[in-house]
Amino acid sequence: MTAPQPKPWIMAIAPYIPGRSTTDDGRKVAKLSSNENPLGTSPAARAAFAGASNSLERYPDAGASELRETLAARHGLDPARIIYGNGSDEILHLAAGAFAGLGDEIIHVRYGFAVYEIATRRVGAVPVIAPDKDYATDVDAILAAVTDKTVMVYVANPNNPTGTYTSRAEVARLHAGLRPDTLLVLDHAYAEYIEGDAEDGGMALAETASNVLVTRTFSKMYGLAAERIGWGYASPAIIEAMHRIRLPFSITIAGTAAAVAAVGDTDFVDHTRAHNATWRRWFSDEIGKLGNAGLRAVPSQANFVLVVFEGKVSAEDAYKGLMDAGFIVRWLPGQGLPQALRITIGTEEETRGVATALRALVEAAG
Ligand code: PMP
Repeated sequence: MTAPQPKPWIMAIAPYIPGRSTTDDGRKVAKLSSNENPLGTSPAARAAFAGASNSLERYPDAGASELRETLAARHGLDPARIIYGNGSDEILHLAAGAFAGLGDEIIHVRYGFAVYEIATRRVGAVPVIAPDKDYATDVDAILAAVTDKTVMVYVANPNNPTGTYTSRAEVARLHAGLRPDTLLVLDHAYAEYIEGDAEDGGMALAETASNVLVTRTFSKMYGLAAERIGWGYASPAIIEAMHRIRLPFSITIAGTAAAVAAVGDTDFVDHTRAHNATWRRWFSDEIGKLGNAGLRAVPSQANFVLVVFEGKVSAEDAYKGLMDAGFIVRWLPGQGLPQALRITIGTEEETRGVATALRALVEAAG
């Protein structure tokens, strides 16, 4: 052999495909493909970011103590049990890195977040796919997929790309059905968007159980996707294991300052939540009116809606039509969803624009 050979399990990874912001011919269009915050960033976070970028020669605080203390105070948590990462993506990788290895099995749902499979294969573990129940997470299917080799389960709640929510009772049932040595990773990237601020009990489980890790992010509700800040909460033993392999300085000084300020700007968060709830409901209702044409919106508790196309207009046609109309959304044939589009809830204007464009496509198809 003449060159270094990547490990076979690495070559089995399908690389992550990020949401796009331009069309094939380079036109700039409204980006509704990555579930970002259409209202921008908290003004307080923006000001803190600008004010913190004056010590470029210094490493950040490797313990991110101010951020951990701020999060702990805001959510009533133990700061020693908080770990930060370069986006919650890093935490998802740390979990597999610390708790799974060659030949172990990690379960995720059929329409799950793409990073679960990448993080699983990266450590030589085997992804085991649990079937969904009409796009929603099926706890019985996950429990049925457990074998002697299962070391972890990844569940996003709400789930991406389906937007579906798993109730508190179902999460408790899932946890109760797993062995105590199986790590349950509850991915709360979209948890702040759940209607009425209900929650799935994941943080309480992470507080009391020795096999639950909750991951959270500043990329969505807090409007800080560019700064790559995520965090996790779990038992001291889980956190300690992940600390052993994490990058020492994976978040920046300015980003951390922005995150600390963002936690304090509850007005911005409340405004974002209310905006999203209003327009998610409106948009889902509009899709419902196109039911005769075979469109349906999967019930969502996130900041996006999965629209399924079962009539004359295919998801691919709609993807192209929306692009022509000035909107990039997410078509995910590579994730087994050639029949659906995941559409981020945008500004009022964008959301109305997408609904109008979809209606026009349906009418044109007759
Ligand atoms: N989990 C889920 C379910 C997501 O959709 C995303 C963002 N695409 C992430 C985690 C990662 O987000 P970040 O790394 O920006 O925190």
